[in-house]
Amino acid sequence: MKEDLNGTRRGIAQRVQAAPSSATVRIADLAKTLRRRGEDVIDLSAGRAAEPTPPSICEAASAALHSGDTHQTMARGKPEYREACARKLSRENGIQADPEREIIATFGCKNGLTLALLATLEPGDEVILEDPGFVSYAPTIRFFGGVPVPVPLDPETGYRWREGPLEAAVTERTRAILFCSPHNPTGTVHRPQELDVIAGVARKHDLWVISDEIYERVVWDGRTHTCIATRPGMEGRSITLMGLTKTAAMGGWRIGFAYAPEEVVAAMVTLQQHLATCVGSFTQVGGALAFGQEPGPELTELWEEWEARCDFMTRELDALPGLSCRMPEGGYYGWADIRETGEGSVALAERLLADHHVAVVPGSAFGPQGEGFLRITCVKSRDDLEEALRRIREALE
Ligand code: PMP
Repeated sequence: MKEDLNGTRRGIAQRVQAAPSSATVRIADLAKTLRRRGEDVIDLSAGRAAEPTPPSICEAASAALHSGDTHQTMARGKPEYREACARKLSRENGIQADPEREIIATFGCKNGLTLALLATLEPGDEVILEDPGFVSYAPTIRFFGGVPVPVPLDPETGYRWREGPLEAAVTERTRAILFCSPHNPTGTVHRPQELDVIAGVARKHDLWVISDEIYERVVWDGRTHTCIATRPGMEGRSITLMGLTKTAAMGGWRIGFAYAPEEVVAAMVTLQQHLATCVGSFTQVGGALAFGQEPGPELTELWEEWEARCDFMTRELDALPGLSCRMPEGGYYGWADIRETGEGSVALAERLLADHHVAVVPGSAFGPQGEGFLRITCVKSRDDLEEALRRIREALE
């Protein structure tokens, strides 16, 4: 279709025209395109590890596929998958969930977020979120007629929630607080006291809390992850999103789940019935193995290796001229402070990709508070990390 006089494309809905493309997906796609053209690009932009999914998980899904498990499942997911998710919550998170009523299988956390927002937001409702925060939150809220209200988190206080700014963001229209811990992009893991700041405000103003816990199994240096749903008074108002994209190297499978109060899950199931029918049948079989049992060496050794690589990469980045970078508390991104270089995050990221063939994400993609930083994925192969460091050093010198 042609453009109107005011420059918008006719026939394409305003809600999409107004949305920015996902910076992380766009840069990763650009890196892939350059690679297909024969350029030697190292992609440290996308949040994906060098390793494929552990073999036992692939074999379980493959066996299911070959045994004819190729049809739709219940919209809320297979009972076996939901039971595995409930066992995981009990074993690792101290949550006793009813797999029949309080869990729904989702296509990863993004689909969980979509369903959670559609289930709870009226047009014009406000959702409080973090700045810097995950690139897809604000556009997704807007798609559903909601209004994102970013609360600036401060690098000087380690990007931790404080009551004053959070309370100040609440209005008559606030419906939910959406946050992520371990935090993408900064690597902060919220401690119980920070979770209680969110919980206190949510209880006081009767808000939902949507908690994206996609990185919860990869927290470092002996830390533990706390689910906000386990904090006092939070069980009835928390929507917990978990998935296997990051922690089991299963990003292509599109598999996760949401744990929420029964009435929220019932609403999400109705939405899923109409929007997508159900999550893939054999992917749920692989997912059940990945969540259902105590993590074995295939996963625990992977996590140990990732912690070592994050440690290596962030130390090396920290030693580069003009750049400082701490070990993330959780997740696998280096959040590199480039403010001393005097160069903007987009300018530096573009220069790194165009002239040195290293893809990273400019911090400003995560919100105004992300300016002055780059997000750098640390779980690529050791060889790639070393070569990327050499190229970044060259760019900074
Ligand atoms: N939430 C956060 C915070 C993420 O970093 C990502 C992946 N980049 C997602 C959600 C998407 O997760 P999934 O693949 O489970 O949909």
